[in-house]
Amino acid sequence: MVKGIVAASVLLVLCGTIAWGGYRLSKSRKYQLLGELVTRVETSDMVVALTFDDGPVPAYTDSVLAVLAEFKAHATFFMVGSAIRNNPDIAARVLEQGHEIGNHSFSHAQLILKRPSYVSREIEDTDALIRALGYEGEIYVRPPYAKRLLVLPLYLRNHDRPVVLWDLEPDTYHRKTDGVVRYVNEHVRPGSIILLHVEIPSRVQNRAALPRILSDLQERGYRFVTLSQLMALRAS
Ligand SMILES: [Zn+2]
Repeated sequence: MVKGIVAASVLLVLCGTIAWGGYRLSKSRKYQLLGELVTRVETSDMVVALTFDDGPVPAYTDSVLAVLAEFKAHATFFMVGSAIRNNPDIAARVLEQGHEIGNHSFSHAQLILKRPSYVSREIEDTDALIRALGYEGEIYVRPPYAKRLLVLPLYLRNHDRPVVLWDLEPDTYHRKTDGVVRYVNEHVRPGSIILLHVEIPSRVQNRAALPRILSDLQERGYRFVTLSQLMALRAS
């Protein structure tokens, strides 16, 4: 009887530990079980890639484009397929202005504990919408909430595509504009990939931070490039 209780307890703790480990692993910014993970690019060139997730959003994307144009900067927009479907004109303008579009799934669901067919559909339906805009370059994939465990990394590895995250996520640590700008200034380095949520209604601080980040980093000699341009530096 006692033995049974001990065994059950050990099993419970073991299952809990595995579940906790899996949860931590599923959102790790630095490690994944298989396939390639890109968080920045090793280079001495003074370049950074700004990335904006979750658009396109009618209220915000065009104003972000206007700010980027003011600084002659290029960026990568990780778009949600359903949002592209609802706002194809905005997505097309992003491309027209020399920016890049990445794949942020179709529905912005967490791509863990899902069937392979569900995951591949989330990626491929969004790829198709991006291609329908006329984009011919590499489509990089960033999973919603950075969540991935086995199915998505395996799918991407089989298609020779990396998972692209970031090395700087200032709004995870700062809710005020000054803090966001300071965090980027203190942590940026050549080859950084910066995630900034500028298309989520509540993230006013990030929209205010964007021109200041562009101005500060340009003053320090940084250029703002698309992910493809950044990735091209890896080969050289
Ligand atoms: Zn997202």
